[in-house]
Amino acid sequence: MTFTNQPVNMSSASSSQPPKGKSVRSLQDLKPFLRPYKARIALALVFLLLAALTTLVLPIALRALIDQGLVSADPNQRVMAMREHFLALFGVGVAMGVFSASRYYSVTWLGERITADIKSAVYGHVLKQSPEFFETTQSGEILSRLTADTTLIQTVVGTSVSMGLRNVIMAVGALTMLIITNPYVMAQVLGGLVLVVMPAIIYGRRVRKLSRASQDRVADSSAIAAEVLNAVPVVQSYTAEGREAQRFVVATESAFKTGERRIRARAVLVAFIISATTGALLWGLYQGTQAVVDGKITAGHMGQTVVYVILLLSSVAALSEVYGDILRAAGATERLMELLAASSPIQEPAHPKPLPAPKSGSRVSLAGLRFNYPSRPQQTALENFNLLVNPGETVALVGPSGAGKSTVFQLLLRFYDPQAGRIEIDGEAVTQLSLNDLRQRIGIVPQDSTIFSTTALENIRYGCPDATNEQVTAAAKAAHAHDFITALPEGYDTFLGERGVRLSGGQRQRISIARAILKNAPLLLLDEATSALDTESERAVQAALEEAMKDRTTLVIAHRLSTVVNADRIVVLEAGHIVDVGTHAELMARNGLYAKLAAMQFDQIEPDHDGTPPLAMSA
Ligand code: ATP
Repeated sequence: MTFTNQPVNMSSASSSQPPKGKSVRSLQDLKPFLRPYKARIALALVFLLLAALTTLVLPIALRALIDQGLVSADPNQRVMAMREHFLALFGVGVAMGVFSASRYYSVTWLGERITADIKSAVYGHVLKQSPEFFETTQSGEILSRLTADTTLIQTVVGTSVSMGLRNVIMAVGALTMLIITNPYVMAQVLGGLVLVVMPAIIYGRRVRKLSRASQDRVADSSAIAAEVLNAVPVVQSYTAEGREAQRFVVATESAFKTGERRIRARAVLVAFIISATTGALLWGLYQGTQAVVDGKITAGHMGQTVVYVILLLSSVAALSEVYGDILRAAGATERLMELLAASSPIQEPAHPKPLPAPKSGSRVSLAGLRFNYPSRPQQTALENFNLLVNPGETVALVGPSGAGKSTVFQLLLRFYDPQAGRIEIDGEAVTQLSLNDLRQRIGIVPQDSTIFSTTALENIRYGCPDATNEQVTAAAKAAHAHDFITALPEGYDTFLGERGVRLSGGQRQRISIARAILKNAPLLLLDEATSALDTESERAVQAALEEAMKDRTTLVIAHRLSTVVNADRIVVLEAGHIVDVGTHAELMARNGLYAKLAAMQFDQIEPDHDGTPPLAMSA
């Protein structure tokens, strides 16, 4: 296993879960995110109300214009009266504009703000999860939830909710005005309304389920893309572009199909709503014209009523659309809250113990460890593992592939907890420490050096964000990286490319070593790269490692001859057990597994360029 790259399970977490029947109630989970903005929400509601009220005033002004300005005014005064009425109408229009704009601003602001908060909260939470979480959840899946799902919530909070509330106010207002001005027409329109609302509710559940499913499918395709984009050179070398593109097409098609079912359901809804609305409107209009003809109401009265009916019906129609959006957001919220609900099995103690800094290197004690990875309960990764490492000591871990060497590192960093046994660092059980204190104490040089897509300077500074440029340079010099960095086009400010694609393997390693040197932790975990480097690079890396190991306790998964020869002790692992411990000479003399490994392994990978005799010969 490579230390940095956790194996990733191909089945996405969400697609295996059926949609839950929580419906709109899942939106309640958003409450904690709304709470900090109570005042803003209140302000937005005020603007919402004002904008709706001015809209409702419009028909009254219209009625006045028709009845007083147009129809019954004295022909001589008509011009003046009309002018006043138009001015009043314009005033209402301006107020509507100002209040609507304020409503738009405050509500959209809330949408953006809350989405940003949710994103940060989910991302921060995901980053704290143990490796176990990432074994079952693909990073593309998480990315999709962080982007696509939060965008949906943003639409709902920023637009739909505002539209919804506005339309609720409008509908209630228009209904009230209708009851006051024309109870007869109102009774008829109410009948029409039932026709519009019923299908919306019946269809709603279906739309929400399809929404959730559609977001899940989108996430599936994102997960595929994220994985493949990270491995383009491998994909191309196996000429698998076509296959990979096809895999993506299949996933995208599946997302499209689910989306298609969702939009079809909504389209049916829209068709129904529009026909029902128009029917109800025409019916109201018919009744109105009859009443005018019979002389029961004035033309202005009818005009006003018609506008209220239009307002009422369009509000209800808009509400059913909004309801659809809200259901979609409910699905998205569900998916995000699932991420937020994930709890890491690695819990920090409520009252972590303080950890005094050791003078020269940490003391490490691993006692009676038994461990299997959670995903492989049947397979023991470490058994009856006992090891005491004294301050300043260098202990090499050697053994065949899969023996459990990297597992020891995983447990020391507390990525997992053992099923039995106790791990202590500087006299304190790791479970009693805060994860921050524990991991601050440990420097790590993984086998695959991780390079971030930033400058050489910032890549090294990652080990200690507060370090000055001089400290970074000093670390780079110690790691034998200074010369090649200064030779780069922009020296320390050179952008290293995503995952360090613009550096050689040995250069990447030295940056990684410089980072660990800068962190200056009392315990160094070193996973030597197995890939053979060219002579010069090998020598530079070796020198860098020796520098990194100075004045601290080092546990090293050793692949290099010089490392094992110089180690104070060598621990030989096989199938999760310690089978032998000793110095190089002692172990060679015993002629056990170590001698066999040495003959097989070190002979091959250690070129005797630096004058050191091959391991098998040196015994
Ligand atoms: P190598 O030298 O090849 O890196 P190693 O000695 O470091 O090997 P480990 O990575 O510690 O071996 O693995 C020990 C055993 O645990 C192996 O059988 C491996 O398949 C298994 N293993 C490692 N990581 C996991 C994981 N995340 N989930 C399940 N099993 C794992």
